[in-house]
Amino acid sequence: MPAPNLTCPDAGLRVTFVGTGEALDPDLANTSLLVQGARTLLLDCGYAVPHALWALTRDPDLLDGVYLSHLHADHAFGLPALLLWMRLSGRTRPLQIFGAGTTAAGALKIAERGYPGSFEASKCYPLEVVSLTEGTPHAWGGGTLEVAASDHARMPNSAVKITRHGVSAMYSGDGRPTAGTEALARGADLLVHECFGDTEAGTPPAHVSLDEVLALAERAQVRQLCVLHHEARLRETIRARVTDLAGARSFSLTSPAAGDTLVVPPSSAPGEAAP
Ligand SMILES: [Zn+2]
Repeated sequence: MPAPNLTCPDAGLRVTFVGTGEALDPDLANTSLLVQGARTLLLDCGYAVPHALWALTRDPDLLDGVYLSHLHADHAFGLPALLLWMRLSGRTRPLQIFGAGTTAAGALKIAERGYPGSFEASKCYPLEVVSLTEGTPHAWGGGTLEVAASDHARMPNSAVKITRHGVSAMYSGDGRPTAGTEALARGADLLVHECFGDTEAGTPPAHVSLDEVLALAERAQVRQLCVLHHEARLRETIRARVTDLAGARSFSLTSPAAGDTLVVPPSSAPGEAAP
């Protein structure tokens, strides 16, 4: 795989898929994205994500922040290794850890549980926990971060939308759409949504099917939809349906693979997929 371009784009947003798998996919790293505007944000950091990220970059200073949608292992348990690697690779500049409510503070506790004492201020670059609140946009990097809670059973999960100069990319994390996540998705240039199941009937209640994600994207009038985090045994079935359905939608539709990059441009033109 050629080295991806991970410099911040002059305009718009670049999204690079680090991993696209569900929790227990034997072949794919956990779902994680790099979103780059004026700053670089990693969205979710499950246990398989550090190695997937290291396949793309060995730069300990690349990230300005990490956003955790929730604290399930496949979304947060890679944080101890990622944070420690950055420290031991010479990072000195601060890193912000974002999450809704207490999620970011909980993520830092997971890191400290993994490597006790390693992230003390005397040893580590500054780690700043930033708690985001639904309904209150957080100014960041010349744009905003906004969150909305999904319906994810016992584990609170919040989707996040990054907006820069009117260009927006939203990532669902896990869970079913709510009025809040649908409002957040409205008019988004890019929606990246978990799609664990194929049809609604066979999908567990804390997750979403392709049919439901398509309906959400139609209602919210997004411009591009990427679906990922497919249940491993259904992955090829869902991808085949995505290929079949892609041409018949009002938005572009893909099921990306790790290493894929998408540039969301600052115009009203559909996004270009970079090789
Ligand atoms: Zn998950």
